[in-house]
Amino acid sequence: MSNRISILMYHQVGQFPAMKTHRANYCDHRRFAGQMAFLKRFGFRVLDLDQVLKCLRGDAPIPPRAVALTFDDGYQNFIDYALPVLEQHGFPAAVYAISGYLGKPAAWFAKDPGRPVPLLMSAAQLRELRAQGIQIGSHTVNHVKLATVSEAQQRQELKDSKLALEDVLGEEIRHLCYPFGSFDLCTAQAACSLHYATAVTCLRGAAGPADHPLVLPRKAISFGDNLVGFFWKLAVKHAPKPDLEDWRRRLEGQTLC
Ligand SMILES: [Zn+2]
Repeated sequence: MSNRISILMYHQVGQFPAMKTHRANYCDHRRFAGQMAFLKRFGFRVLDLDQVLKCLRGDAPIPPRAVALTFDDGYQNFIDYALPVLEQHGFPAAVYAISGYLGKPAAWFAKDPGRPVPLLMSAAQLRELRAQGIQIGSHTVNHVKLATVSEAQQRQELKDSKLALEDVLGEEIRHLCYPFGSFDLCTAQAACSLHYATAVTCLRGAAGPADHPLVLPRKAISFGDNLVGFFWKLAVKHAPKPDLEDWRRRLEGQTLC
């Protein structure tokens, strides 16, 4: 069996009370440090998204134990808790920012009463992060469930966030993350025509040559994942979930734009 890339999905990293819901949104900072030390200790190869793309296109072999680290939404706690650990190990990572929310509270948390509303990074903080080598991707303008809005709105979200972040960072934005994992064929087609090179989903699995770069599966790391759970998610060679297999079939050999 050929090697695959485990693209890990994180959201917030920090100090949080124990919780029973929304667990995939939180990772305790001590557990995060332990997980990164684990990757280092056991020789995992942490790739950036451009290296992931090269591997998936067949321009480079997928190394054994390949991993990529992705962080959705662009929470400010990334700077305090995740960045120092990544720097310590020299690991690349990607942060997906929501261009309409830079420096603002993550408003969608407010629909769950009692759940603290975290702050998202500002434009200046994203620039600083980029200068430190972190890749910045788009997570739309308004953090919308793309598959629930019109084709024109989808395109607008992908285009405007790309332009806004390019303006902030002064470089091309080539990587995309579909909010809530919501997307359809129109979304992927729009991403293609707007020259995004990769897009990550919440489809569960490890990425390989069978995957279209604009429909990449990931593995969510959750609040409940101790090192055993973390290892299990990295190592497990389970069959891909049916929805991922569906997408692989639909996009096999297909040109999106
Ligand atoms: Zn999100």
